[in-house]
Amino acid sequence: MSGVGKGIASSSVGTIMKARGFKVTAIKIDPYINIDAGTMNPTEHGEVFVLRDGDECDQDMGNYERFLDVNLSRTNYMTTGRVYQEVIRKERSMHYGGRNVEVVPDVPEEVIRRIKKASEEYDADVTIVEIGGTIGEYQNILFLEAGRMMKVKNPKDVMFIMVSYLPIPSKLGEMKTKPTQYASRSLNSAGIQADMIIARSDVALDKKRKDKIATFCNISPEYVISAPDVESIYDVPINFERDSLGALIADKLGLNHRLRPTELSQLESFVNKSKKAKDRVSIAIVGKYFASGDFVLSDVYISVIEALKISSYYLGVKPEIHYLDSEEFEGENKDKNLKKLKNYDGVIVPGGFGARGIEGKINAVEFIRKNKIPYLGLCYGMQIAVIEFARNVLGLKDAATAEINPKSKNCVIDIMPEQKEILKKGEYGNTMRLGAYPAVIKDGTIARRAYGKKEISERHRHRYEVNPEYVEKINTAGLLFSGTSPDGRLMEIAELPEDKHPFFLGTQFHPEFQARPLHPHPLFTAFIKAAKNITKTDKNN
Ligand code: GLN
Repeated sequence: MSGVGKGIASSSVGTIMKARGFKVTAIKIDPYINIDAGTMNPTEHGEVFVLRDGDECDQDMGNYERFLDVNLSRTNYMTTGRVYQEVIRKERSMHYGGRNVEVVPDVPEEVIRRIKKASEEYDADVTIVEIGGTIGEYQNILFLEAGRMMKVKNPKDVMFIMVSYLPIPSKLGEMKTKPTQYASRSLNSAGIQADMIIARSDVALDKKRKDKIATFCNISPEYVISAPDVESIYDVPINFERDSLGALIADKLGLNHRLRPTELSQLESFVNKSKKAKDRVSIAIVGKYFASGDFVLSDVYISVIEALKISSYYLGVKPEIHYLDSEEFEGENKDKNLKKLKNYDGVIVPGGFGARGIEGKINAVEFIRKNKIPYLGLCYGMQIAVIEFARNVLGLKDAATAEINPKSKNCVIDIMPEQKEILKKGEYGNTMRLGAYPAVIKDGTIARRAYGKKEISERHRHRYEVNPEYVEKINTAGLLFSGTSPDGRLMEIAELPEDKHPFFLGTQFHPEFQARPLHPHPLFTAFIKAAKNITKTDKNN
C-alpha cells in the first residue's frame, strides 16, 4: 500500500545488505504512464527528486540515495510509460523481427532487461526492486509478472518481500492480520509466493500474530518481520538487523558464504546523536504546496526536511520544522503575519513554480533580510531573493521573473534563449536545466568557507536564471554572486556579506538532493550553525 513505508523498507533492506559487505543497488518501479515525475503536480505526487544525470523521479529514489549513500542513475527508475515507450520504439525499428508484439511476455521481458541492466551497471550482488502501488491493483500486474518470470528462471536468485500493514482499529484495540492474509492470497493469484513479510504497524508484532501470518501466508515465522513505527527512519535498518534480516536474506539467496558481520556503526552513531539532541532549532519553510484537503503535506519538501534534520543532528541540535503558507504574507494580514517570522531561528524558501504565493515570498524575504533572520533560499528561493533585492535595494520597482511577468522591463530572472525555443514547442517534460552541473566559488565568501573548496557540483531543476545584464549592478549594490558556472555565465549562489547579515544565502541549485546522513550538506550545516549561533568549525574545512 502506498505510504506504508515500502520505500523505507526497501532502502533499509539495501542498507543492511550493504553493511553485510554486498554491493547493492535499488530500482523503483512506478506503475503510472508518465515517463517521469517531472510533469506531475507536487501536491499529488510529493517531491520530484532529481538524480545526478538529471532524471526527475520519485522521492523514494532520494531515500535510496540517502540510505545507501550512493548516486543512482535513470536506469534505476522505471515507469509503465518508459517501458511501453521502449517496447514501441523497438517494434518500430523491427527489433522483434516482424512477429506479433504482445503485452505478455514482451512488456515483462523489457522490465526484466531493465532490472538486469541496472544490476550490471552497478555490478550489484543484490538488486532491490521496489514495485509501487498495492497488491491486487491492475496497474502493477505486469511488473509482478516480470518478477514471477525471473523467479521461474532463477529460483535461487530471486526472493519476494511483501510489505504489509496491520491495522489496529481504535474501537477494537487489537491488531488485525486479515488484510495481510488477503494480500498474500492476491499475491498468490499473480503466481507469486512471498518469501518474507515485513509487517508494518504502530507497535511490534506479538508471537500469536507472527504465527498466524506464518500459517496463513505460507512462510516460516522467522521470515515474518515486525516493523513497528520508530522515531527515526534511520532506525529501521538497525531494527531489522535485530531480527537478523540480513542473514535471513543472504540465506534465501544463497549468499551466506560471503556474509560479513553487520557494519551499521556509523548509522547507529548518527541515530544516537539524533536521539540525544536536546537543544532545539526552529526553522520555518515558506512554501505553497502544503495543502491536500484537510491535511498538511510535508512530503513535497522531503529532501529539504531530511537535509535540515541531518545537519541539525550533526551539530547536536533537534530541528523543529514549521510550514508556513506564503499566501499568509499577502493581503490584509500581511504585516501581522510577517512579524511571526521573528519567532524562528531561520527561514527557508524552497523550490517552486508559478505565480501563486510569490508576492508573499518576496515580502517574507524582505522582512527576513531587514530583520537579519538567517535565510536559505533554494532555487526559487534564490530567484526571489534577487527579485526582492532588485526591487527594494536597487529601486527597480517592477523587478520580476519572466516566469510570472515576462512583460516587465526589469526581468532580473529571465529565461535562457535555449529554453525559450523549447517552450515555444510546448515541450515541457524533461527540458529544464536538470541534474548535476559544476560551479566555482569565490574566495572569502560564506559559501567558500562552508564548502571548504572552490569547485563543486550540484543538482539543478529550473528553467529561469539570473539575467546577466543585472549581475554587475546587483553585485555592486551588495548582493554578491559568490558561485557561478565555470564560464561565469550562470549565477549559482547569491549571498549577503556577513557584516551585513548573519546568514543570507540562496542557491540556484538544490543542495538538499545531496545531503546524506553520513555526509551532511555543508550549506545546510552552515545555515543551522548561523541559526543557532554555533561557532564550532567543521572537520572538512
Ligand atoms: N520556477 C523556477 C524556475 O523554473 C524555479 C524552479 C525551482 O525552484 N525548482 O527557474
